[in-house]
Amino acid sequence: MRILLTNDDGIHAPGLALLERIAGELSDDVWVCAPAVEQSGTGHSLTLHLPVRLHEMGERRFAVTGTPTDSVNLALRKLFTEHRPDVVISGINHGENLGDDVTYSGTVSAAMEAALAGLPAIALSQALRGTGNLFAAAEGWAARVLRPLLALQLARRTVININFPPCPADAVRGVRVVRQGFHDYRRGSLVEGVDPRGRPYFWFGLDDIEHTLDHGTDLEAIGDGFVSVTPLQVDLTHHASIGTLAEAFAE
Ligand code: MN
Repeated sequence: MRILLTNDDGIHAPGLALLERIAGELSDDVWVCAPAVEQSGTGHSLTLHLPVRLHEMGERRFAVTGTPTDSVNLALRKLFTEHRPDVVISGINHGENLGDDVTYSGTVSAAMEAALAGLPAIALSQALRGTGNLFAAAEGWAARVLRPLLALQLARRTVININFPPCPADAVRGVRVVRQGFHDYRRGSLVEGVDPRGRPYFWFGLDDIEHTLDHGTDLEAIGDGFVSVTPLQVDLTHHASIGTLAEAFAE
């Protein structure tokens, strides 16, 4: 099984090193193509206004001077001309990707890019709290969660979004397959200041996000100490609205 790994925290991120170790237990054909520097929050952006370079960092290890989407796109075009990866795994992100935050996530979007290319795609993120071994739950549970997924025929044009709760591995209560939750949009902090030239600036923060803890969501599962597994689809169509809208435009 050929596995391509990527992330949005950059080629030197500890979460990627951990994922490389875990993928190495599952296959001896593991490749890495990840952004050269951190790209968290870049979503599904594709670099159009600058050239992008592909640097060989080691055997089957490449860094891209661009976004997570650039990395997956370039890897599939330039690294695998004959035998494409059997699966693309993105992560393990330093921080959760839950609820509607997935639309900002470079980690999830890298997996989306692979799904668009017709490949099975999985995103892994570790929710963080406190200090110590922040990736303990992912370290203990990632292979356990990945093995059954890799044995499945995953639906085309979908991404499996997995989050690990912020606790030691032996405190994780199990795995829940759940739907995507949503956050209160009055979210995070906004720092306001004045730059050295006297111009005002704003800086988005991520702290103090209020969670809307609906039953059966990824947010609830992580809050309860479970690994959350959520299938996402690339097709964003809201099918229930098609009839109403079509009627509004009927002649
Ligand atoms: Mn990140």
